[in-house]
Parts: sequence; C-alpha cells; structure tokens
Amino acid sequence: MFDPKAIRKDFPILSRKVNGKPLVYLDNAATSQKPRQVIQALVECYEMYNANVHRGVHTLSMEATERMEEARRKVAAFIDAPDPAGVIFVRNTTEAVNLVANAWATDNLGQGDEIVVSEVEHHSNLVPWQKVASQKGAKLKLLPATDAGMIDVAALDVVITPRTRLVSVVQTSNMTSAINPVKEIGRRARQVGALFMVDGAQSVPHMPVSVRELDCDFLAFSGHKMLAPPGIGALYGRPAILEKMEPFLRGGEMVREVWYDHATWNDVPNKFEAGTPNFTDAVALGAAVDYLNALGMDAVRQHEVELGAYALKAFQELEEVDVIGPKDPNQRGGLVTFTAGDIHPHDLGTFLDHEGIAIRTGHHCVMPYHRKLGLVATGRASFYVYNTNDEVDFLVETLKKALAYFNHR
Ligand code: PMP
Repeated sequence: MFDPKAIRKDFPILSRKVNGKPLVYLDNAATSQKPRQVIQALVECYEMYNANVHRGVHTLSMEATERMEEARRKVAAFIDAPDPAGVIFVRNTTEAVNLVANAWATDNLGQGDEIVVSEVEHHSNLVPWQKVASQKGAKLKLLPATDAGMIDVAALDVVITPRTRLVSVVQTSNMTSAINPVKEIGRRARQVGALFMVDGAQSVPHMPVSVRELDCDFLAFSGHKMLAPPGIGALYGRPAILEKMEPFLRGGEMVREVWYDHATWNDVPNKFEAGTPNFTDAVALGAAVDYLNALGMDAVRQHEVELGAYALKAFQELEEVDVIGPKDPNQRGGLVTFTAGDIHPHDLGTFLDHEGIAIRTGHHCVMPYHRKLGLVATGRASFYVYNTNDEVDFLVETLKKALAYFNHR
C-alpha cells in the first residue's frame, strides 16, 4: 500500500525544523527532496568507484563506466525508450531543449519555417526557440490555452501547418497544472511531417510516461525534480534522428578520431556528451528511478490525484483564493497555483515560511502566461510522494490565518 508516512522516513530533511516548526515542504515542482537511498548511492560512488568514465582500462574506471551505463538503461526503461542509446545525460530540462535547438534546429530550419510551442510554456521551452527562430528567419508560433490553462486542441489544425518543422510542448504545466493533450498534439505534428518534442519536467517525475506511447521524437526532463541530485537530467531522442544530428558541444569523449583540422564523431549517445560527464549524479538518478519504480508510478500518480483533489476542495473554503487551471483533479498534476485577492504572494510565502511551510511564489518562469492573465505573481503549492493530507490541512489553516492577518493590517 502507498503510505506517504512510511515514505517520509526515507527523507532525512523532512524531520528538520524550519523557524522552530516541522518542515512542510510543498515546493516540489521547483525541486524535490532526496531519499536516503539516493544519497547513499552518491556516497558509494565517491567512496568506492570514483574515476573518469569511458577512458581508463583500470578497474575503477570500468566500474564507474558500467554504473553510469546501468543508470542509462534504468532511465531508458523508466520512460519506456526502446534503446538506451536514445538517452543523453544532460544537466537539466533547460540544457536538453538547448541541445535540440542548437544541434537540430540550427541545421534544419530555414526562412519561413515554423516552430510551434504553446502559450503556457516554461521559459526553458520558449527562450531557446526565440533565438533559433530569429537566427534562421523562422516563425515562432503559439498554441493557445483554454480558459482552464490547457493547450487547446481546437487550435491544432490552424496553428500547426505544413510549414511547421518542430512542435515542442509541455506535458504538465508547472503553472496551470494542466496535463496537456500531448498525444493529439504529436499526432498533428506527424501529420504535417514535423518533429515532436515534449517537456516532461513536471510529468516524468509524477506519472508513467512512455516515449513509445507519446510517439515523440524528443523528451526532456530533470533529475532534481524526481528525487535525484541537481545537475543531472536526460534528453531522450529517437536514435535515427540523433544519428543525423551534428553535436551540440565539442571536445573530448564525443569524438572518434581527431586531426589538427577536423574530427569525426563518436556514436550516439556519446556524440552528445562532450567532456567528463556527471557520472555520479547519473548513478544517483538511477537510484531515484529504482526508488520510484519500487513505489510504482501508477501509485505515485494516484496519490497525487487524491492529494490534489483534497487540496482543491480545501482551497474552495478560502473565499479570496482563486485556483488556476482545470477543476478536475484527473486533468491536473500535483500542484496548485493560486492568487489571494490583492495580497502579494511573496507576503503570503513569507508568512507561511514562519510556520515552516515552503511554497513557491513568483512567476515560476512562466512570465508571458502570467502577463496574459494580468498577473505578476502567484503562489504555488506542489506535492510529491511524501506529502500528506495533514500537510494540506496545515497549509489551508495557515493560509486562513495569513488572509486574516493581511486583511486586517
Ligand atoms: N519545464 C518545466 C515545465 C519546468 O517546471 C521546469 C522547472 N521549473 C523546467 C522546464 C526547467 O527545468 P530545469 O530548471 O531543471 O532545467
């Protein structure tokens, strides 16, 4: 049985106090906490087999290499990728998008071609495309969102056209919480012969995600949002496409042969992993995948649907509080973004912090969509495997106190 109270025992940080109060960590969409099993995997790397990978003939180097490749196989299986060669270790989602923008888009886009994203994108799936579009004379187009903050399928045929070469959209929005209809979007992309990329930063950690089912060409996600350390993430790419792409970064390890005036490239995925990779954090990501698999991703998703439903219902009691995004918990990820009348979210966030509650306040790197809704900042509580209904109760109770305090100053 899925038991968040038992799960909490694996996370040392959850037993600490903040401002004299037990920590209630509700900022998981920004980054997740780490279980002992992941921390231990990292410690073991440094204590037992630290060496540079893919280079040495000595035992430590071979062990380190094998552990890193084992982690790659685990990550590939986690996203149902047919071939581990399609998993490139990167620093995070942002780097994954930049890799595709620089290594694919710059060589494959021309004047008048179209890149399509949506209006609810995180800056990391928007800003890299702005640059490549302006460099290549391509057009950056936006899929609109419905009033519920979900990408509108009704617009697919109009926005995605035969001039579209690449469609890149977020699966679960880190602002509206909507789980977007990515399969339909991918189908339309394929119909016009465009490549299809998914920003899985908020979906891969929280629900089963299969690249085969999505039928996507690229999927980007970050380890730090799924129990692993920061500085490690993955870009999945369809191997046939990766084969044809030029490298992103150049230097050691990504080459086969080098002359003074030119070089040839290593096989995929090494072609895209220039220099010494972050192998220790890759191994820790493998341990995070093991941990999530042991919980079961269906159970993780179910837990968050239940917690989200519980939170939405409790938030309804708060008169001034407006929740952004779909009303149906089944259409949402495990995060709740809200406004509270004219009380600034930073003030609310500071009040909550005094009570030991960590939420995110600000624009969550989704500035254009905030602007579109006439908002500067919002508050966001985001859940993960260790959060409980009791914590939601405490959040709501403390929000009530905060609202009373700020309304009577
Ligand atoms: N996309 C989405 C939907 C996100 O929530 C985030 C992180 N907030 C990112 C991309 C960027 O992730 P990272 O900062 O790990 O590159």
